[in-house]
Amino acid sequence: MISGTNAIGNKASKQGEKTFKTFDPKNNENTEWTFYEATTNEINEAVALATDAYTVFKDYSGEKKAEFLEAIADEIEALGDELINTYCRESGLPQGRAVGERGRTMGQLRAFATLIKQGSWVEAVIEKAQPDREPLPKSDIRKMLFPLGPVVVFGASNFPLAFSTAGGDTASALAAGCPVIVKSHPMHAGTGELVSSAIIKAAKRTGMPNGVFSNLNSSGIEVGQQLIKHPKVKAVGFTGSIHGGTALYKLANERDEPIPVFAEMGSINPVVLLPSALEQEGDTWATKYASSITLGAGQFCTNPGLILGVQGEHLNEFIDTLSKEILKLEPTTMLHPNIYAKYVEGKKELSEQDGVVITAEYKKDVNVNIGQPLILKVSGSDFLANTKLHREVFGPFSIVVMCKDGAEMEDIINHLEGQLTGTILGSEEELELNAGVVDALKGRVGRILFNGVPTGVEVNSSMVHGGPYPASTDSRFTSVGTSAIRRWVRPVSYQDWPNRLLPDALKNENPLGITRLVEGVYTNTEI
Ligand code: NAP
Repeated sequence: MISGTNAIGNKASKQGEKTFKTFDPKNNENTEWTFYEATTNEINEAVALATDAYTVFKDYSGEKKAEFLEAIADEIEALGDELINTYCRESGLPQGRAVGERGRTMGQLRAFATLIKQGSWVEAVIEKAQPDREPLPKSDIRKMLFPLGPVVVFGASNFPLAFSTAGGDTASALAAGCPVIVKSHPMHAGTGELVSSAIIKAAKRTGMPNGVFSNLNSSGIEVGQQLIKHPKVKAVGFTGSIHGGTALYKLANERDEPIPVFAEMGSINPVVLLPSALEQEGDTWATKYASSITLGAGQFCTNPGLILGVQGEHLNEFIDTLSKEILKLEPTTMLHPNIYAKYVEGKKELSEQDGVVITAEYKKDVNVNIGQPLILKVSGSDFLANTKLHREVFGPFSIVVMCKDGAEMEDIINHLEGQLTGTILGSEEELELNAGVVDALKGRVGRILFNGVPTGVEVNSSMVHGGPYPASTDSRFTSVGTSAIRRWVRPVSYQDWPNRLLPDALKNENPLGITRLVEGVYTNTEI
């Protein structure tokens, strides 16, 4: 049952008077659920509880935290159809997607549980003392990673489960030993409340401290801003717009004690068509890209919004096929009327730029909030001259750039902003022949793909989902995959510390049996 309350640790709370409802984009109407906007008092209570919880949670063993994460996954599953139906209602996304995303969310929680049970993720490094070293004795110095403190997570609109309440940011922060306060996304606050109830049940069941998790509702930016400014908050995770992520990043840096904001934001995910891809497989790629561009109504951060090829007959054929194929696909509902309105505005703005030609525009009658696909084409020189064309249009949209030659293509890539992904379609030989293009692309992205589509982000230990700004605010980290845990920790060195009082990860006996770097050699034995 959705109550619309905030979760302040284990307590349901509705202290404020301001309320809002979530929206059913398919039926274009409010849902019946009313949510209570979090008050300043509730924000302060949640942060105070998280701060207290941190004092004990930070020292919990990997086993104990893993039990919590696994229990969250089980409790999410136990929510059954209510979760799936609420998700579909509030997002307009189909049931299959809801079920898939729930599986991904549980999978992420379990992957972090496995990582912390194994334990080597703390990157223990040991340099032993050499008291007799000349001219000066060498101290014993041992280093490992420690959790930062309470983390604020902003739920994303386009992934109500996998990048929201118990999504990758929350799972990785809890795994690291950081309590989490979620600023629930107002478009799916009901889905968020259900997942929050699962987290709280799991926390109680596994003996976690009260305040290890809180969930706050809001329909405006004030709650998020207050959370970021709160001196006891130590880091922030965000997925959403460049505007929102950058505003939060600036706010965090204006604090007396600046804190890291790991924001994953916009990206147009350039795709490079090399000659053999166009000559030998142009139709196949065009068909695959029609599907990739429209997947989830184009509402993926890895949506291929920019396609680059060298002008000529084969590129023209590719554009024709892509345009025909995309119009064959049934368009689907977007997440919210605001996102739909932004999509319509973005399409209009880009279509009206100099030199831009519409090659496919879905014009059949559709229901409200349906994202109708649009494909544009433009010359390389017009694209280079106009940075408005480099902007993300969030939805089933892509622009094909007809470059004069390979040199112009490389120039265009060098002028792009940072991206989550870059894709090259062609042959292995062409990768070598086009080393300049490959290098330029690698310099702009977090993940470089060969002969594939960028949509679909695997959750594993080698994934990088991030990239140079504005793809993310810190290109050194990923928000997907188990390495995402690195965002919520900092290294601490112990110098000449008594062995008995060291954390287990650094003790001579290596009681956790983890892999450590001892005097430059990786080993899991005792020293
Ligand atoms: P958003 O506007 O960036 O909002 C995401 C979250 O951040 C919301 O909870 C929002 O709070 C909060 N927020 C935004 N600006 C803030 C600020 N200045 N201070 C404090 N909090 C702030 O994203 P959205 O609502 O999901 O969608 C809007 C647009 O973002 C989309 O049309 C799309 O263009 C883009 N987007 C891109 C991606 C991507 O992966 N590339 C993903 C999602 C969205 P409130 O809602 O409570 O105001």
